[in-house]
Amino acid sequence: MDRTQSDLLKAVIESSTSDRLKRILKDICVRSGDAYKLACSLLLLREDVSREEEADGEIKEDATTRYEMCEQCRKEYDVLANGEKACVWHEGELERDDEHDCWTDMDDYMLEEGSDAYWIKEQPEGFLWNCCDAKGDTDPQKSGCQTSRHEPLRNKKSRN
Ligand SMILES: [Zn+2]
Ligand SMILES: [Zn+2]
Repeated sequence: MDRTQSDLLKAVIESSTSDRLKRILKDICVRSGDAYKLACSLLLLREDVSREEEADGEIKEDATTRYEMCEQCRKEYDVLANGEKACVWHEGELERDDEHDCWTDMDDYMLEEGSDAYWIKEQPEGFLWNCCDAKGDTDPQKSGCQTSRHEPLRNKKSRN
């Protein structure tokens, strides 16, 4: 009887040492984001997460969620890897830099057509962070003037 590849794989797993399998599993988690998430959900106990949060003196309703959206950097972060310097962000807002070249040739009616949110997407280089004058087209994770832990977004409905 022919063995399929999956039967063969099962047989190899059965006969492998646990050290070898541990190494392979770690390697798989590094190579594949999906595998990493799956391994986290299978191997990390939710109760452990909430206990860690409570030990910090920060009891949160959502403490059992493995991944959260951050209110500061607006990115998804790993609750278990939320160190003191995990989040780099700007405390201010993006403001249009009227002196930037990208606005010079633009007609007023075009500017009025789009909201700031629209232009931030289209021409981030024409904006500055009003907290520190960092350019709008730099990655806040690199240019951010604030460094702290990620803060969970309270209202998940505003996630977009
Ligand atoms: Zn800033
Ligand atoms: Zn953050």
